[in-house]
Amino acid sequence: MTTTCDVLIQGGGGAGCSAALHLAQRGMRVILLERGLVGGQASGVNYGGVRQQGRNPAELPIARRSREIWGRLGVLVGTDAEFTVTGHLKLARSEAEEAELIAYLDVAKQHDLPLRMVGRNAIHRDYPWLGPLVVAGSFAPEDGAANPRLLSPALAHAARAAGADIREHAEVVAHAHDGARFTLRTKAGESFAAPVLLNVAGFWGGAVAAAFGEAVPIEPLSPNMAVTEPLPYFIEPNLGVVGGNVYLRQIPRGNVILGGGHGEADASIPWSRPLPEVTMEAAQLATQLVPALAGVQIIRSWSGIDGRMPDRIPVIGPSRTTAGLFHAFGFSGHGFQLGPGIGAIMAELIVDGRTDIPLDPFRIDRF
Ligand SMILES: Cc1cc2nc3c(=O)[nH]c(=O)nc-3n(C[C@H](O)[C@H](O)[C@H](O)COP(=O)(O)OP(=O)(O)OC[C@H]3O[C@@H](n4cnc5c(N)ncnc54)[C@H](O)[C@@H]3O)c2cc1C
Repeated sequence: MTTTCDVLIQGGGGAGCSAALHLAQRGMRVILLERGLVGGQASGVNYGGVRQQGRNPAELPIARRSREIWGRLGVLVGTDAEFTVTGHLKLARSEAEEAELIAYLDVAKQHDLPLRMVGRNAIHRDYPWLGPLVVAGSFAPEDGAANPRLLSPALAHAARAAGADIREHAEVVAHAHDGARFTLRTKAGESFAAPVLLNVAGFWGGAVAAAFGEAVPIEPLSPNMAVTEPLPYFIEPNLGVVGGNVYLRQIPRGNVILGGGHGEADASIPWSRPLPEVTMEAAQLATQLVPALAGVQIIRSWSGIDGRMPDRIPVIGPSRTTAGLFHAFGFSGHGFQLGPGIGAIMAELIVDGRTDIPLDPFRIDRF
C-alpha cells in the first residue's frame, strides 16, 4: 500500500523540520521521512552558533529572514531552544584581518545587518580577558547561540501539532518519478507518494539529487568540536576570528564550547569523530585569544557530518531536471542559523511558486 500526501520531505534536520512546520501551517499534507531521529545529524550536534556576520553576501537575505524567526521561536514552537542574544564578536589578529572586518561593514549595511567595529583600544577595554594578539573586532549585536539538541525536535513537535506526519527511523532507499508524482520506498518496505518532493537530506542530499540526474560536487565536512569543564562565567559574546580557524563561546553554566579544524567521517555509515591533535590545536588557538583558558580541562570532543559545496554556499531551489522536486542541502558548515528560515522559504517556493529571497546564487546547475 502506498501512503499519499501533498509534499514528501526527505531529511529531518533543522531545514526539513522547519519546512514540515511551515508547509503544514499552510495547509499542506506533509510526510517527513527521517532515517534516524530528527536532529540526529549535523543539526543536533553542531556548535550552536546563530551567526549572521561574516556570511557570504548571497546568504544574508536568508540569514536575516531566519534571524527574524529565531526571535519568535518561543511563540512558534514553544521553546526558544536556549537561543541567547549574546552578540557575535569576530576578532582580527593582524592589520590585514582588521581591514577585512572593515570591508565587511559595507556588506552588512547593504543587508541591514547591525554591525560595528570595535577598535584597538576599545577591544581590550571592553573585553579585558582577550589576549594581546587581538588587534580589533567587529560586533554583531543580534547574533548569539542556541542549543542545537533542542531545535529540530521542537520544530518537529510543532509540525506534528500542525498536522504534519513526521516519521523517524524511516530511511528512504529508493526514489521514483512517473512524470506526475514521486514514490519513495523506505528500508522497512513502506511506500509514500506525492507530487512534490523536498530534498533536505544534508550531506546525503547530494545522492538524492544524483538520483534525479543532477549530481553535484558535494563533500562531507566534519568540524572538530570540544567542550571544557565549567568555569566562572566571563565570556559573554560568541567569539570567532577572521579565517575561522578557531571559535568559542561560554554557556551560562560555565562550560566553554570551542571548535576549529576538522575531524574525520565516513558518511556511508554514518559515523564521525574528532581528532585529538586537531582538538589540541584549537585549544591552543583559543588560549591565545583568551589566555585565562590556559590549563582548563577539555571534558568531551565530538564532530558531525555536513555537506560542503565547492563555493561554500548551499544548493537551494527547484530541480532543473524534475518538476516538483526542490532542494535545500549542502549548507557547508553554517546551516544551523539558516534552518528555520529555509523551512519558511521552501514553503513559499512550494505553495506560492515564488519567494522574495534571491535564490539564483544557490542554483543546483551552477557547477
Ligand atoms: C560539528 C558541526 C558544527 C557546526 N556548527 C555550526 C554553527 O555553529 N552554526 C551554523 O549555522 N551551522 C553549523 N554547522 C552546520 C549545520 O549544523 C548544518 O549546516 C545544518 O544543521 C544542516 O541542516 P540540514 O537540515 O541541511 O541537515 P542535517 O541536520 O544533516 O539533516 C539531514 C537529515 O537527513 C537525514 N537523511 C539522510 N539520508 C536520508 C535517507 N536516505 N532517508 C531518510 N533520511 C535521511 C539524516 O539522517 C539527517 O537527519 C555545524 C555542523 C557541524 C557538523
